[in-house]
Amino acid sequence: MVLILGIEGTAWNLSAALVTEDRVIYEVESVYKPLHGGIHPREAAQHHASELKRVVSDVIRGAKNAETGFSIRDIDGIAFSQGPGMGPCLRTVATAARALALTLKKPLIGVNHCIAHIEIGRWQCGARDPVVLYVSGANSQVLVYFAGRYRILGETLDIGIGNALDKFARYMGLSHPGGPKIEELAAAASMHSSGEDKDKDRKYAYIPLPYVVKGMDFSFSGLTTAAMDALDAGYTREAVCYSFQETAFAMLTEVTERAMAYCGRDEMLLAGGVGANRRLQQMLRTMCHDRGARFFVPETRYLHDNGAMIAYLGLLQFRSGQTTPLRESGVKPNFRPDEVEVTWR
Ligand code: AMP
Ligand code: MG
Repeated sequence: MVLILGIEGTAWNLSAALVTEDRVIYEVESVYKPLHGGIHPREAAQHHASELKRVVSDVIRGAKNAETGFSIRDIDGIAFSQGPGMGPCLRTVATAARALALTLKKPLIGVNHCIAHIEIGRWQCGARDPVVLYVSGANSQVLVYFAGRYRILGETLDIGIGNALDKFARYMGLSHPGGPKIEELAAAASMHSSGEDKDKDRKYAYIPLPYVVKGMDFSFSGLTTAAMDALDAGYTREAVCYSFQETAFAMLTEVTERAMAYCGRDEMLLAGGVGANRRLQQMLRTMCHDRGARFFVPETRYLHDNGAMIAYLGLLQFRSGQTTPLRESGVKPNFRPDEVEVTWR
């Protein structure tokens, strides 16, 4: 049995977990919530630094209570998010991981955060070889595994969908994270339109917004600005949130379908925090159903950033002999998934 301790802390969530081949033994997290505005990298890093000791101790204590015979000496390796992410946050977590690895005399395993999202999804859902739509705060990509790497077929040309939603929510005066609040407002628009009261329906109807797809790449910054303008022009929040979601998610669904057709894959996996959105799930599920493909989405705790996914990818890498010497353990804020040689598939 392989036992890996994994630590995630690329942005808002500091999370540590102990994972074996067949399950997540224990996980503890500590969420950084900005007082105002978006995620401030240095503030988030300070949050992580002040919570690291507690989070790691709590995971070990929790595992001891959950598992008879568990000992810290049984840990085979220390996995950490090496990137992509916010520099100060990454450095804080990497420093803690190095200290733990040296103290416990166990190997260090630097993992790519995006691939961790994919692998935990495949593990939890039993997807074999899916086209992956990975949508989180800073990242939005369509990927497939081919010949030893996760290849990026399409991606955002500017900001990630999560950042676009969060930015627009902030413009409306809503606190971070904005994605779930926009989802609620958008759902309210559908509830308001009855089909009976024409004047009322118009207030909640779809507003055309920039739809930008180039091949399998896409863009969200023009859409975000146009949504802000629509709000200033007097459209209701509900209508703009609804239109924002419909436009952005249709773009994501279109490129995912194109990737599936291009690669001839009959599975798709949704990954990343924005994947929690029910409207996005619904659009993708319909698209997959219409193509006769299977749609997979893990439970929400494995969609947003979590320590279990880092521990699990660490476990896959460890088993295939991929560990990280200290001199190569520097953080990689712009780490792309296609830089990683996949040795475990
Ligand atoms: P991650 O970095 O993968 O944890 O994803 C974080 C992003 O997911 C943030 O930008 C959130 O606003 C976004 N998010 C979380 N829940 C939802 C939701 N229900 N709908 C849309 N976006 C969401
Ligand atoms: Mg993430």
